[in-house]
Amino acid sequence: MDNNIITVTSPFLPPLEGFTPYLQDIWESRWLTNNGKYHQALETALCKHLGVRCISLFSNGTSALVSALQATRITGEVITTPYSFVATTHALWWNNIKPVFVDIEAGTFNIDPSKIEAAITPKTTAILPVHVYGNPCQVHRIKEIADAYGLTVIYDACHTFGVTIEGLPVLNFGDLSVMSFHATKVYNTFEGGAIISHDEATKKRIDNLKNFGFVNETTVVAPGINAKMNEVQAAMGLLQLKYIDRVIEKRKVLAETYREKLKTIPGITYLEDLPGVKHCYSYFPILINKDTYGDTRDDVYEQLKKQNVFGRRYFYPLISQFPTYRGLESAQPGKLPVAEKLAEEVLCLPIHPYLDNESITRIVSIIRGKR
Ligand SMILES: *Cc1c(COP(=O)(O)O)cnc(C)c1O
Repeated sequence: MDNNIITVTSPFLPPLEGFTPYLQDIWESRWLTNNGKYHQALETALCKHLGVRCISLFSNGTSALVSALQATRITGEVITTPYSFVATTHALWWNNIKPVFVDIEAGTFNIDPSKIEAAITPKTTAILPVHVYGNPCQVHRIKEIADAYGLTVIYDACHTFGVTIEGLPVLNFGDLSVMSFHATKVYNTFEGGAIISHDEATKKRIDNLKNFGFVNETTVVAPGINAKMNEVQAAMGLLQLKYIDRVIEKRKVLAETYREKLKTIPGITYLEDLPGVKHCYSYFPILINKDTYGDTRDDVYEQLKKQNVFGRRYFYPLISQFPTYRGLESAQPGKLPVAEKLAEEVLCLPIHPYLDNESITRIVSIIRGKR
């Protein structure tokens, strides 16, 4: 039996010889960080590649999320989703903002817009939705609600890269969007992140905030943080950009292969591409319905693990179930029924550029054999 270890993700690494010229140049220039030439070049290149007006690079996605809330002066209560990576809600906590969890839609795993209005109070200042697995939220519906109530919208777009809706970049919806370029994401700069904004004044404020609040040598306008991307990260980003289209194309083929092989297994469901959406295939979640499949998600997870296949139960537990948040009224058991159910059924299967068809065959046959 083939027992090679298969991990849920594996960072794409361009050929090393492509990276050494950048390193040589950085060494020679002795300019390591603070808006260096690779930092500037990556901002320009990403704006073009992603089809956005302004981008501010960050040292990671979490510091970008925290800073996005600072930049927009969000306070009070923010409506968000329990079904995400924990950093989404941690960013609110670090800003002393009360998270208000709203349930998700079964079809997309994203916040359910029809349940947002009921969660709005006089203290609500913003909505922080997540494009979960890179599937775009109902951005038009969310905008209508935000406009009607005068709320800011900040998207956690950490799972997206190059995703479009009817040809429009998903990053252009909302007041700000936050990206992550962590090693486990589709596009990586080792660690890294960014805030997308839509005008120069906002970009400038964000750029100040990630550099201690400095606007010039002697003027500090806000209690900013240090969240700057360094030159080595930025150079990695420039190099990765040369490969990203091929990486996403490979992921698409893998997703299609999974769907083809999984479709005859009763009790297993997965997402299809949404109409009009160009996806980035950052994850491949399946749902395991215990009644139809005959076994639980955790059984499948353990069985795969025994055979050296490491899936991840993203997103279980829900953020609302962690000790920091479970005391909140909106986190009480039974209040988020769809999220609670999906968190028990979901398993993200391995998907990354180094995965081959044989590995998918092996993974699917374990899932099939388990029944
Ligand atoms: C990865 C991720 C983050 C955090 O990004 P880092 O770069 O790891 O700090 C935030 N939100 C979501 C949804 C993520 O997947």
